[in-house]
Amino acid sequence: QAKAAGRNSIRFFDPAMQAAVTTRAQLEADLRDALAKDEFRIFLQAQVAADGRIIGAEALLRWFHPLRGCVSPAEFIAVAEDTGMILAIGDWVLEAACACLAAWAKQPATAELTLSVNVSARQFRQTDFVPSVLAVLARFAVAPTRLKLELTENMLVDDVEDVIGKMSALKAEGVAFALDDFGTGYSSLSLLKRLPLYQLKIDQGFVRDILCDANDAAIAKMVIALARTMGLSVLAEGVELDAQRDFLAHHGCDAYQGYLFGCPQPVEDFTARFAAG
Ligand code: C2E
Ligand code: MG
Ligand code: MG
Ligand code: MG
Repeated sequence: QAKAAGRNSIRFFDPAMQAAVTTRAQLEADLRDALAKDEFRIFLQAQVAADGRIIGAEALLRWFHPLRGCVSPAEFIAVAEDTGMILAIGDWVLEAACACLAAWAKQPATAELTLSVNVSARQFRQTDFVPSVLAVLARFAVAPTRLKLELTENMLVDDVEDVIGKMSALKAEGVAFALDDFGTGYSSLSLLKRLPLYQLKIDQGFVRDILCDANDAAIAKMVIALARTMGLSVLAEGVELDAQRDFLAHHGCDAYQGYLFGCPQPVEDFTARFAAG
């Protein structure tokens, strides 16, 4: 009983809390070694056009931990952000993506594909973000027009002039920007208007129940109309059913991603879809 122990005592014995602290510390320690131990891979998930053609892929990070198995980015990206390890990891992802694009460029069947890379807030805030992206593209001799970067709303509101400056500089070189998880963050329409974006990605949270929840359906339709009015592409995330795709297509959505078109898979498996013959 905490009260009986006295009001100034702090209890350290909550086993669940103790376990959580240990796990977090262990995760941090393991994460620190993961790059050196070559435990990261990118998986690719298809992005398709309205006609079903694969136009590119999104690179999704996977961590193959020797004991935990495949750890989801949902579990470790936040830790990597807090500790700053996201900077080295983010560089690694960009290099892996550019290596993939360089290989694709050699085959006509894959040469036109684009690759989307998720950028973290901390990574984007680096003063040398723009030259570092361009340096990786140059090192792998990849055309900047093949690379798409995914940003989220919340990382754009801090220093708007800096954000627009970086996006414009990369856009001038041919790199396109998508706004990920659109509708879940805090950005305003007046900010949206000023950003040099190529695409809005409708968050999967609005797509999941789009067939049975009138609010989700209304939001999805509104985002599609907004994107089209602003001359942007609009991609729906998390599409699992034909009926979801049909609903979105009916309202003018022009790109899709989700289990209906393919789960995230190893680069070799994704690329094998394009093998001749
Ligand atoms: P995200 O960028 O919005 O990626 C979409 C997430 O939805 C992925 O989860 C993907 O596997 C999942 N997904 C795709 N299709 C479906 C579907 O049809 N149904 C459902 N229920 N889910 C689907 P994942 O791979 O676990 O990634 C989670 C998040 O982690 C990503 O969300 C992204 O924000 C972050 N992330 C992943 N890779 C990286 C990375 O390299 N760098 C950074 N900074 N963040 C990353
Ligand atoms: Mg994404
Ligand atoms: Mg998303
Ligand atoms: Mg996300």
